[in-house]
Amino acid sequence: MVAPDSLGPAFQTLARHIRRHGPITVANYMSQVLVGGEHGYYMGQNTGQSASQDPFGVTGDFTTAPEISQMFGELIGLWCVDCWQRLGCPRDLQLIELGPGRGTLMADALRAARLAPNFLQTLKLALVEVSPALRRKQEEKLAGLLPSQRIAWYESLGQVPEAPTFLIANEFLDALPIRQFEQTEDGWRERLIGLSPKGDELGFVQGPTDPLIGKLLSADQSIAEVGCIIESCAAAEAHVAEMAGRLREVPGAALFIDYGYVASSGQSSLQAVRRHSYHPVLAAPGSADLSAHVNFARLNKVAADKLAAGQDTVQIHGPTTQGTFLAQLGIRQRAERLMATATPDQASDIQSALDRLTAPDQMGDLFKVLAITSPQLQEVAGFGSVAN
Ligand code: SAH
Repeated sequence: MVAPDSLGPAFQTLARHIRRHGPITVANYMSQVLVGGEHGYYMGQNTGQSASQDPFGVTGDFTTAPEISQMFGELIGLWCVDCWQRLGCPRDLQLIELGPGRGTLMADALRAARLAPNFLQTLKLALVEVSPALRRKQEEKLAGLLPSQRIAWYESLGQVPEAPTFLIANEFLDALPIRQFEQTEDGWRERLIGLSPKGDELGFVQGPTDPLIGKLLSADQSIAEVGCIIESCAAAEAHVAEMAGRLREVPGAALFIDYGYVASSGQSSLQAVRRHSYHPVLAAPGSADLSAHVNFARLNKVAADKLAAGQDTVQIHGPTTQGTFLAQLGIRQRAERLMATATPDQASDIQSALDRLTAPDQMGDLFKVLAITSPQLQEVAGFGSVAN
């Protein structure tokens, strides 16, 4: 039996809360574990079991696309430059990144954008990051790439000023809190997290039946079989709606990249990863990354609802797969260029990075890309119907 006080400070905080107020939602659990107070996984204060001072890369818990290869950030930087040129090169531009992690994607994007000095000339960066530890890493990584007075950090997207904008969010939406609803014999119930009678373990419990839950779900979801779990992510929807609203008013584009689906599997997609392996989602909270698959069909609908409400329609592109998107942006050609001057070992690393990012059985199909652009930008690279 595990002694409760050996389960870590995040567990203690959650257990105290549940003892006082009863079971919590999955959303509440995710936000406490990831970004709650000083013990949150991303907050960088953990000194115990977690690698949360730096969750990324080989020595951390998981690896994201920009950490696999410079090609990823470079191509996204060039995608922004291309969109900016298609828009007639608007001035006073800002580039927002949601959850920049170590700052690797942004550093590679800015380096590639040197091909278009005018793009960089007046560019401002707005980095939306809650973690003080990761803000410091981002500052170090971006030093010298843009004058520091043109880089600002924000707690949330709502605080970032409205201006001509490009927005990048890679593996950000998956960290936002989801709620889960389960179809039972007597109707929909919210899936909640409670405490074992001994107080030493967290476990899933069912909330009360609530006919309102069925009404929240779309028609195809609400007729689900018993045992089916449906997820909703209000925060992800709010980010997409906010950008669709902004891009009606200002020129620009938003690019959301994440692992996710267009048709729900009817199962929980909540997952925990620690040291590159799956970890039980409720064990030792705060010591592993937590995330959930992103419902891209729902995000498309949120953006589409926004455009129906206005006269100037924002454009929605995708979702397409990461493999198709990167292929159309020319990742193969970029890899060949890099390989041409590489040692045999480096060339084989480049080839395996290319495979990891694009192969259908690796990140290529699971990861999806959705873009929302201002009305003027009817066509953007990466979303053509033919993959090359
Ligand atoms: N985009 C990076 C990192 C992805 S990890 C990459 O691809 O490598 C998720 C990032 O989002 C981290 O930087 C984390 O600190 C940040 N984050 C998580 N939840 C957040 C929230 N609610 N608000 C702002 N940033 C958040």
